[in-house]
Amino acid sequence: MDILLVEDDPSVAASVIDGLENASMIVTHVSNGKDAISAAATTNPDLILLDLGLPDMDGQDVCRIIRETSSIPIIVLSARSEEIDRVLALEFGADDYMVKPFGMRELVARIRAVGRRSNQAESTATTSVQVIGPLSIDRRTQRVRVNGEDVYLTPKEFDLLAHLATDPGAVYRRNDIMSEVWDTNWYGTTKTVDAHVAALRKKLGNQDWIEAVRGVGFRLGITDS
Ligand code: CA
Repeated sequence: MDILLVEDDPSVAASVIDGLENASMIVTHVSNGKDAISAAATTNPDLILLDLGLPDMDGQDVCRIIRETSSIPIIVLSARSEEIDRVLALEFGADDYMVKPFGMRELVARIRAVGRRSNQAESTATTSVQVIGPLSIDRRTQRVRVNGEDVYLTPKEFDLLAHLATDPGAVYRRNDIMSEVWDTNWYGTTKTVDAHVAALRKKLGNQDWIEAVRGVGFRLGITDS
């Protein structure tokens, strides 16, 4: 795997590079946000490790900017350990989050897990476009349209919508959604699900398409007419 490491602390960078190279990964290292954005576009890595505290920009903005044009998996590395930051990391499009200091073994495992999920998303998406009434979901290109108009979703918003659309009308429990869409690393914050549902409703332009089932979870409420 080709990894883009964005980290300004030379000692952290050195140990991460060492650990990843031992795990047979190829690492490109940059130490500021500006270089990260250009390297993400030009070197086409399989995954980005992104420190949040960078000298020139906030890592959150770097993540958002990369997300505008790319769905490369991003794991955020940060010393900030408050729950609010975990939720924020999801909100701005990260796929996973590691709090410093972390062990190399865990980092390598997370990289492989995130990489596997994104490969699966690519290879299992053979039945390309699902159409439900005015909504179409293309799992291969991760494109969503409403009445033929493109709707831009973050990768997690897409995953959430695609998950609910697996069986339209069926009720999905909050905790199951958490573990399917966010993996179990994100223990305890089902508020994240609510935040993403709210964002999805807004972007899809119809509040009724994702129905809340009180005390249980959510279902896709679009009828195919
Ligand atoms: Ca830093």
